[in-house]
Amino acid sequence: MGQSDYSKNGEARNATDETPSARDILVCIQDERLAFKKRYPCSRSLLRQNSKYFDRLLDPDKFEEGRRIEQELHERAAGNGLAHEKPLPTITVSDLPLLFERPSRANESDLAEILTLFLRMLHGVQVSWPFSGIKEFRSLEFLARLAIIADFFSAPDILHGFVRKVHNNERAAYNGLFGMKNKVPETVVRQQLLIGILLSFSPWIWSGSNYLICKGSGHWSQSSQEDTRSDDGQVAWNMLPNGIEEELFARRQYVLQTISSIQSHFVGLYSSKLIQCKKGYANSTECDSFQLGEMIKFFTRKGSLQMRDMYMQQEAEIYNGDMRDLIARLKECPKYQIDSYHQHCGARTRILPILEALQNFPDYGICMSCWQTDRTKESWLDNPSGGYWTFLSRGSQFGPNCDHNGQSKRMYTAETRNWTSF
Ligand SMILES: [Zn+2]
Ligand SMILES: [Zn+2]
Repeated sequence: MGQSDYSKNGEARNATDETPSARDILVCIQDERLAFKKRYPCSRSLLRQNSKYFDRLLDPDKFEEGRRIEQELHERAAGNGLAHEKPLPTITVSDLPLLFERPSRANESDLAEILTLFLRMLHGVQVSWPFSGIKEFRSLEFLARLAIIADFFSAPDILHGFVRKVHNNERAAYNGLFGMKNKVPETVVRQQLLIGILLSFSPWIWSGSNYLICKGSGHWSQSSQEDTRSDDGQVAWNMLPNGIEEELFARRQYVLQTISSIQSHFVGLYSSKLIQCKKGYANSTECDSFQLGEMIKFFTRKGSLQMRDMYMQQEAEIYNGDMRDLIARLKECPKYQIDSYHQHCGARTRILPILEALQNFPDYGICMSCWQTDRTKESWLDNPSGGYWTFLSRGSQFGPNCDHNGQSKRMYTAETRNWTSF
């Protein structure tokens, strides 16, 4: 009996069932949290070939378990007919990562399905997309759980083809998802981002990280960084691995500080002794004072002025909405005039090109190749640029590539920003 039997009868069988000869061992998988226990007939050589986890576990030179299995297989091969009536050698895996938020019957049966799919792929059996028997809208969720399992068993390669297929076949659907226009549940974004991280699939890391930084996360609503650091009892997409959860939280704070620094800059400018009025008339000082007053009224009304109070002792309420809405709100800054002679003296004329540049290129996501090549350099959290940064001209310093990432980081993580050098 060959591999095709596995695809038809991939569900777990008891050790007493007839098992295909190619499946020479049983893998017993247990998860106490779900009261789950099933045995899967498997091929020892294919497990070792396609999973580093199994390769180590079943290595007769390294682990007692591997030695025992080797011994039992040897006895079966050498034995008479009686030996074949004994159950296949069994190896137990009982420390699976958490795949579900809570135990339930449905989750138990999903786990069985996920393990079956995973083991089929590990045995080289073709699996279709969306996964057969699983509703299409749940396939991504299944893929996220499969990615966690594949990561645990050190076999991410078997899912690579899948992710690429989903990405290409359903590009339109996922573009909608990450065009950030539709209301997509955060969990879906996190699942896709996790798949990207575990399987090193850069388009999903890029889009998912941009999305979360821009929209914020329900998991960060307490706004305390300690909250993002506890991963006990969390499914991996709720606490993204490899320092990425902390990095995204930090990036969002930097982006908020940057937007906040624009209004601080202009308030500072119009409060300074340097005349901002374009006219040079006798009433230029009054013009500046008038503009300053109107600007403060506007920012206060928009609720954005309090953001600059983060240095104060009491905790300022941190904006938890969409960055693009914040920029759009600031763009409403009206054109004030103290009188008909002072047409362009206010902040609006100067602030709009800055906001438009930020709005057109809001990229602050994680570039996988930069992150993997030199994480220390790429991380905003561990290695902010600091220093002085100057806005040079209207958007000319933005362009979609790795160099752009570096420029983006220099702007968002600068210590001081000058928005009006041009
Ligand atoms: Zn003026
Ligand atoms: Zn890059």
